[in-house]
Amino acid sequence: MTYPSIESLHSALYAGETTCAKLVEASLVRAEEKSDLNIFIELFPETARAQALAVDQKIQSQTAGPLAGVIVALKDNLCFKGHGVSASSNMLRDFESQFTATVVQKLIDADAIILGRTGCDEFAMGSSNETSAYGPVKNPLDPSLTPGGSSGGSASAVAAGICHAALGSDTGGSIRQPAAFTGTYGVKPTYGRVSRHGVIAYASSFDQVGPFAKCLDDLAKITEVISGADAYDTTCSDRAVPSMALAQADRPFSFAYYKEVLDNPALDPEIRDYFFAQVQKLEAAGHRVEAMDFPYLDALVPIYYILTTAEASSNLARYDGVHVGHRSENASDLESLYKKSRSEGFGEEVQRRILLGTFVLSAGYFDAFYGKAQKARRVVRDATLEALQQVDALIGPTTPHTAFPLGQEYTDPTVLYLEDIFTVQAPIAGIPAVSIPAGPHSNGLPFGIQIMAGPFDEPKLFQAAHILDRL
Ligand code: GLN
Repeated sequence: MTYPSIESLHSALYAGETTCAKLVEASLVRAEEKSDLNIFIELFPETARAQALAVDQKIQSQTAGPLAGVIVALKDNLCFKGHGVSASSNMLRDFESQFTATVVQKLIDADAIILGRTGCDEFAMGSSNETSAYGPVKNPLDPSLTPGGSSGGSASAVAAGICHAALGSDTGGSIRQPAAFTGTYGVKPTYGRVSRHGVIAYASSFDQVGPFAKCLDDLAKITEVISGADAYDTTCSDRAVPSMALAQADRPFSFAYYKEVLDNPALDPEIRDYFFAQVQKLEAAGHRVEAMDFPYLDALVPIYYILTTAEASSNLARYDGVHVGHRSENASDLESLYKKSRSEGFGEEVQRRILLGTFVLSAGYFDAFYGKAQKARRVVRDATLEALQQVDALIGPTTPHTAFPLGQEYTDPTVLYLEDIFTVQAPIAGIPAVSIPAGPHSNGLPFGIQIMAGPFDEPKLFQAAHILDRL
């Protein structure tokens, strides 16, 4: 895909230099050429071709929407009526969406074209794409590496030049970490900014859908399109959606970073040096940057994994082979049907999280784990919001290092959980966060700079990101 932005794509489409039909064919060819990367679980060629013809007509009659001809891939946990959706799990291997997710409908209403669904960690649980029942997506920048997780397929569809943009979901970093690992832009909007209707749930008080794109301008445009009230999701805010179009900030911004993040021993020293070089540039450009204390960093990953596994154990209870999901052929009675269906349908990591979540919710342990983690979540949220009253945005590295090799053996799953150390704060606090590409590292790979802003302040988030993006 040769258009670096929606703006340049639209110039070409409206000048008659290309058509949506041609763009779809080019994307399908490109997807085929890149099939070794295992990005798509399924392409939707017929749907995409039909949409392309319809949008081409609208372009002719000057009635096309703001995302006319923008080719988008969907993470395999977003429902699109009449198309398969599986959360990359054997539990839903042959499942077909019964309705269309609000976010997908909003894309279609804006005249975007849906190309297919991309591989992710099973039920969005993972950081490397390796928990997918379909095998991991490979990083387009180097196929021996992970593209990150859980929305690694969506990030890779953009990074490999197959699509203009893609949707992912982010519960603890699943958009921002793959964006950092693939050199793309990715945003997790404020909790409640975007509808979760038709999104296969992992942890309902954390999950948010957001886009991947090749530039910040596109990211902001798509976020604006998918935002807004939804009668089907009562947690979705009915606040008016502000314009997210990128305006140049008309005043110096104030930024803060956390000392504990930059002093963290897990952080690659080169990423740290790059970050401080950016801080100097910010200051030289007239912005203010201060170091803040954040004594809760080490509590974030435990809070996240206690609360999300608790919510997951409840959300995933519906997959019992009776109501919905894989049904075992080897059952002899109702109880063995439940047990065998769930044991066969869910992979190891999902089972581990259901067990952990059931444990922290069980009588006798509820107060010690779940109740305590809820209180700790409030403390973190309060501290985060207080910091964001003092400065416009919080900045830091998105991840401790660049993309790591696929196929590493983990005897201890908490090693991988610690990958999420910098990304879980935003969903714990419910605030928006964006990752913009940075680097390259001396190993040739990109990494990410993360920017967080106050709740429902996506316009300020994008403005702050824009300042950093242009340094
Ligand atoms: N890596 C995190 C996890 O494994 C984040 C996942 C996500 O945001 N969906 O839970």
